Amino acid sequence: MRVPSDRAAMYDVKGNLRQVLSSLPDGVRLVAISKYHPADYIMAAYEEGQRVFGESHEQELREKHNLLPKDIEWHFIGHLQTNKVKYIVPYISMIEAVDSLKLLREIEKQAAKCGRTVSVLLELHIAQEATKYGLTPDACRQLLDSGEWRQMEHVRICGLMMMASNTDDKDCIAREFQTAADFFDEVKQRYFPDDSNFCQRSWGMSSDYAVAVRHRSTMVRIGTTIFGPRVY
Ligand SMILES: *Cc1c(COP(=O)(O)O)cnc(C)c1O
Repeated sequence: MRVPSDRAAMYDVKGNLRQVLSSLPDGVRLVAISKYHPADYIMAAYEEGQRVFGESHEQELREKHNLLPKDIEWHFIGHLQTNKVKYIVPYISMIEAVDSLKLLREIEKQAAKCGRTVSVLLELHIAQEATKYGLTPDACRQLLDSGEWRQMEHVRICGLMMMASNTDDKDCIAREFQTAADFFDEVKQRYFPDDSNFCQRSWGMSSDYAVAVRHRSTMVRIGTTIFGPRVY
C-alpha cells in the first residue's frame, strides 16, 4: 500500500469512528471510506466493529481485500471501468456508482459467471461540476425506461448514490440533496414500487453528511473525518 503504516499512531481512528457513529441517526449506515489509507487504519476501525468500507481503485481494493478479514463488506465507490468489473465482482458487496447501461450489463455478465448477485446503486449527477460522473435525472429515467435491467438476475438495484457540489454554500448542498431525495421518490414509485431492495440513498461525505442525513440519506460515505487527510 502507498502509505507507510507507522502513520497509524498519529490518527485516533477509533475515537473518530465512535464520534461519527454516535452522530448518525438510527437507520443511517456508515461506509468508512478507506481509499489511500493503510490496512492498519482499516484494522483499527474493524476492531471497533466497523465492517463496511469503501474503496475507489480496483487494484488497491484487491490488495486490501486479500490482506484483510473476509467478513469486511467492500463497497466500490469510484468510477468503474467495464474492463475492471471482472476483478471485483467475485467479492464485492456493493458497486455504488453505476452510471451506464453498459456497466450494468457487464456487472450482470460477470456476476452470472461466478453465480453471485451483486448489489448496485445508480449514481446521479446533480452537482454543478462538469467533471463529476453520474447520470442526470433524465439519463437515469432513460436507463430505467429501457427495462433491460428487469431481466438481469445477477444485479440488484438497491437505490441511488450522489455527491453534492464541492462548495461551502450549505444552501446549495441542501438543495442538491433534496433534489436527489425527491428523485428517489419518483424512481421508487415509477420503477420499484414493490421492490423492497430499492431503499438506499447514499449521500453525505465528511464535509456535508450532517446536511445529507437531514435530507433522508440512508448511507453516508465518510473518509477524512475518520482516517484523516489522504496522502496521495
Ligand atoms: C473519497 C470519497 C468519499 C469520502 O470523502 P471524505 O471527504 O474523505 O469523507 C465519499 N464518496 C466518494 C464517492 C469518494 O470518492
